[in-house]
Amino acid sequence: MAASVTDRFLRYVVIDTQSDASSKSQPSTEKQKDLGRLLVDELLSIGVSDAHLDEHGYVYGTIPSNTPKNSVPVICICAHMDTAPDFSGTNVKPQIVRNYQGGDIRLPGDSTRVIRVADHPVLKDMIGHDIVTSDGTTLLGADDKAGVAEIVAAAEFLINNPDIKHGTIRILFTTDEEIGRGVDKVDLKKLGADFGYTMDGGAAGSIEDETFSADAVEIAITGVAIHPGQAYGRMENAIRIAGDIIGRLPRDMAPETTKGRDGFIHPTGASGVMEKAHLSFIIRDFTEEGLKSKEALLENITREVMKSYPGSSYTFTVKEQYRNMKEVLDRHPEIIEHAVEAVRRAGMEPRRDSIRGGTDGSRLSFMGLPCANIFAGGHAFHSPLEFVSSQDMEKAVKTIVELAKVWEERS
Ligand SMILES: [Zn+2]
Repeated sequence: MAASVTDRFLRYVVIDTQSDASSKSQPSTEKQKDLGRLLVDELLSIGVSDAHLDEHGYVYGTIPSNTPKNSVPVICICAHMDTAPDFSGTNVKPQIVRNYQGGDIRLPGDSTRVIRVADHPVLKDMIGHDIVTSDGTTLLGADDKAGVAEIVAAAEFLINNPDIKHGTIRILFTTDEEIGRGVDKVDLKKLGADFGYTMDGGAAGSIEDETFSADAVEIAITGVAIHPGQAYGRMENAIRIAGDIIGRLPRDMAPETTKGRDGFIHPTGASGVMEKAHLSFIIRDFTEEGLKSKEALLENITREVMKSYPGSSYTFTVKEQYRNMKEVLDRHPEIIEHAVEAVRRAGMEPRRDSIRGGTDGSRLSFMGLPCANIFAGGHAFHSPLEFVSSQDMEKAVKTIVELAKVWEERS
């Protein structure tokens, strides 16, 4: 088992699967199917006989139930194949620090890239581990190829150990998670799962049942344009109005000044000329009330600013993006309870976390497949300093196997 998950991981990370938000197609980049095809081959060769790639680039496969019980729910285990557009995923050269003995890790391809213990104290728990990194010139892609490798390795283990009883397990590998379209074309009917887990979290032992709730806000401002030579007392420059709104945003409510369970108002775009300007925001909070109060605050700021510009007008548009999956998961407490038990049986102290972002699981939960997130073991996602240890990936494989057992035992 040990060699298998890391070997698979090393095979997957060298395949470039970066997604592209500017593309309209599904998958956003054809190259994601290169990994999809390899995964289908590997799944078929370990005995997942219905494994296939669909026209959208998703991989589906089934580990059939081997229990006489017919009350065991169908569980979907999911990971995403794409890597983030934030940093290059081309020509990844994985490096392994074997039997890590502590200290900072300098990456060989770019000496300015150093994984520092001070920035990543989790390294202190990894003494003796084999740590996989990139060479520093690309991201590694542990997000989420660690999850992909763990699922294939767990599937192989379950198929080779038929004495381990489990219900039907559906495997799903998605494309385009990093650009927010990961589950747009998932066929839930075909999947036929009752509950799901994404293997897409960070540190070993962590389980996440909460994501942000998320809205976008667009503010369109129409000012009063006039020749600057005759502007006295009349011009209302839309660029200035937009600047005033940004200037009044509370400083303690920004991504860079909040952590834990606090949400934020984050300007993501600004454009303008004298007669009109446009501001884009994302609003994040863990509760619906927190989200709504931040939107009300932003609208109040806008209204106040506009009082100084009587000839100008604005529109304020809120667009729902996604919602905290906890709302759905709380109705099915066994999803988290069984995950906690599986992590414990795999030899770790379970840790409940909330995600300051969204996952495929939050969308799936609201589409009708309640879905929590389990650790895949990676750290420093979306950066050239990304790393994951072989031992933590093995723990994730064990967690999936234990999870299959727990669902069978308790159903
Ligand atoms: Zn991910």
